[in-house]
Formats: sequence, structure tokens, C-alpha cells
Amino acid sequence: MLDLVFPKLCPFCESIEFDEKICDRCLKNISFIRDRSICLNCGVPFGYIARDIDTQGLADLGHAVFQETEHTIVDASRVHLFPIPEHLCGRCVQDEYYFERARSIAFYDGILKEILHKFKYQRKLNLGGVLSNIIIDNFPNDLGMQDLVIPVPLYIDKLRKREYNQSLVLAEKVAKYLRVSFDPYVLRRIRDTKPQFEIKSDIEKRRNVKGAFILREIENIKGKSILLVDDVFTSGSTINECTRVLLEADASRVQVVTLMRAV
Ligand SMILES: [Zn+2]
Ligand SMILES: [Zn+2]
Repeated sequence: MLDLVFPKLCPFCESIEFDEKICDRCLKNISFIRDRSICLNCGVPFGYIARDIDTQGLADLGHAVFQETEHTIVDASRVHLFPIPEHLCGRCVQDEYYFERARSIAFYDGILKEILHKFKYQRKLNLGGVLSNIIIDNFPNDLGMQDLVIPVPLYIDKLRKREYNQSLVLAEKVAKYLRVSFDPYVLRRIRDTKPQFEIKSDIEKRRNVKGAFILREIENIKGKSILLVDDVFTSGSTINECTRVLLEADASRVQVVTLMRAV
């Protein structure tokens, strides 16, 4: 009855929608990764060229069109025109990542990027449910069984400023969906790090996060298969550093799922 008086709206175009979902029209504007050929290990899509976002469609809905150029620089060394099944990207061939498998649901662009920014920086906490549902509805089917779900933590100062950790909100819902334990406190970020996107070189990115995480209770990690959850996978350095700490504490395996992937 209440829903008739106060209908729930699509968080993007504000058309009338149902509980914690974006509308079908907006859903079509999300660049999902699922049908792409990806590196079996780290999940990077091969030879990605961003498709045109339906800007006219969005403008028709009476919204400020997302102005950022929908263009992704393709690293030639990572492009494979005829990807071989189970093929690995250059980074994984060189064994750069400690985690066993990472998957992302969609590309970091368009309306999803916009919704994430609102969720992260404009205190629209209610969007956490919408974003979590996008992960859950498209959950990768090639990750194994998990024992424990852990979010990538925020540094305390950032947490105070932002009031919540966006990855924690997503991870909690993922854990519930998978019906496995959730521990947002076992992994701690002990120092602030520069945003990874501000740093150009991979070596600097790794240096930036080195030693930034510690574990509170090592015993909780031992022998466990762990799923790390974050909002965006960029260079993978942050996730890799978290993984290193978890494996050092004898986690049996670390896998990763992120909502988005900045290629
Ligand atoms: Zn919509
Ligand atoms: Zn890879």
C-alpha cells in the first residue's frame, strides 16, 4: 500500500521501479563483462573497446548525460584478437597476482560508474542494495566454494569522512547471497594510501599499498577459502596486497569479485 503512495524509483532515471533494482532500460546501458573473452585468472577482458553508451537515450529521459569520454585505452600487449580458451594475460603469465581468480561484473563506465560515485561520495547509502543486486544477479559461475567473505577495508580517516565503507556494504550482501561467513574486521588498513588511479606506474602502485594491511586474528584465516570483495578493480595492486597478507596467514586460497573493472 505504501508503495503506491511512495513508489520506488529507478536510482538512475527515476522511472517507477521495484525494490532495489534499476529499471530494464537502464540495465541495458550497463556494459557487462560476462560475454567477453577474459583472462582466466585475473578476469581482464581481452581487446576491450568500450561500446557507445546510449547518450541520446539518457538525454531523452531528461537526465544530464554522462559527459566523460567512453573510451578505454587498450594496452596492445594485453590484446589478443583470437583469444585461446583458458588463455592468460601478460600479467598472469608472469605470475604477478597472488590471488587465484578475479572476476568483475561490468566495466567501469557509464551509468554504473555514476551510480557508484553517488553511493561512494554523495552518501546515497540506499544505492548499496542496487549495486549489490547487480553483483548477485550476475554472480560469476566459475568461482569455487568460499568459507569467508572479506571486504577491502578503508583507512579509518577515510571511513570517518565517508561514514561507511562501500566495499563492506557490497561484501555483506554477497556473503548473505553465498550463505558464507562475513568478517569485515579481520583485515585492517593501517595507513592511508593515495588513490591508485592517481599513480601511473605499476611499481609505484605496488609500493603505495605495500604494508598497508594487517590481520587482526590470524587464526580466523588459516585454511580458509576467502572471497575478497571490492567496488572497482583497477591495477589490482590493492587487492593483491590484501591477498598477500591473507596467504601469509595460511588462507588456502583467495578469490576476488568486484562490481567493476577499470581496464
Ligand atoms: Zn532507469
Ligand atoms: Zn590475467
